[in-house]
Amino acid sequence: MSPNTTQQPLTLTLGHLYPDQLNLYGDRGNILTLRRRCQLRGIELRVVGLGVGDALAPDEYDMLFIGGGQDKEQAPVADDLHEMKGIGLWAAIEDDMPVLAVCGGYQLLAHYYRPAEGPDMRGLGVFDAWTEHKGTKVPRCIGNVAISWNGQTLVGFENHGGRTYLGTAKPLGKVLKGNGNNAEDQTEGAIYRHAYGTYLHGSLLPKNPHFADHLIELALQRKYGDRAITENDLFNGNHTNKAAEIGATVLELQKTTVSPLLTPLEDSLEWEAHASMLERLGLYSEAATILRTHKS
Ligand code: GLN
Repeated sequence: MSPNTTQQPLTLTLGHLYPDQLNLYGDRGNILTLRRRCQLRGIELRVVGLGVGDALAPDEYDMLFIGGGQDKEQAPVADDLHEMKGIGLWAAIEDDMPVLAVCGGYQLLAHYYRPAEGPDMRGLGVFDAWTEHKGTKVPRCIGNVAISWNGQTLVGFENHGGRTYLGTAKPLGKVLKGNGNNAEDQTEGAIYRHAYGTYLHGSLLPKNPHFADHLIELALQRKYGDRAITENDLFNGNHTNKAAEIGATVLELQKTTVSPLLTPLEDSLEWEAHASMLERLGLYSEAATILRTHKS
């Protein structure tokens, strides 16, 4: 990489799959959050919508997002995923592109979704898991959720009839409060390489800035490589200032930040929202840790 490339403004391109069909419970908020957190670091995040009938050329994107939807919206998407996007999506995932798939989108990246009524929807099998709806007489999995992830917590809102069971797929996290994948085995979501499936709507990323930064960092490292990141003072220049500001050592700061390379942002509002969700779920000590660690 020639020395002057890192001075170019950094750009990332996000492919938003099925923005018109799969967008429940504020899923679009995830895109707004990624764009804002990039912008605050001088990175331009371009967002391209990919609807039914659009092909997916993996080289054109650095990250992908697919939201949730009702059974009737998922059926045409399932067919299109196979006919138009499957090969490109697999190639992107096998090449470690970060992908966030929420609820209905998550279900369609596993082997299949058996809805309450109608035929099974074939999934892409990225996650070794499957989903079955228990029927309209069985209560849906609805409510606020908290899970443990990477030694930290993720919070969000879930509303799904389908129950997902993991085969060899690694869960995204362990349920602290809520239903998660199936209200039985305390697993939530699934991970394959840098593809993350989750039932956490809400939307997920505004109240989980550490997870948003994790996805941004994966995309930057994949596109620019570590050298570009470390050479670019946009990213690690002022850890020292932030640490001094909150009276912590750089090491302590980096320990609390999932993405040690990205300059920390002023996230007190995000962490207050995160902590208040934990308190609402009765997870007081977790909430206290969050407020202590991320005090403004
Ligand atoms: N329709 C699916 C289910 O009910 C997914 C719902 C969603 O995306 N919120 O399980």
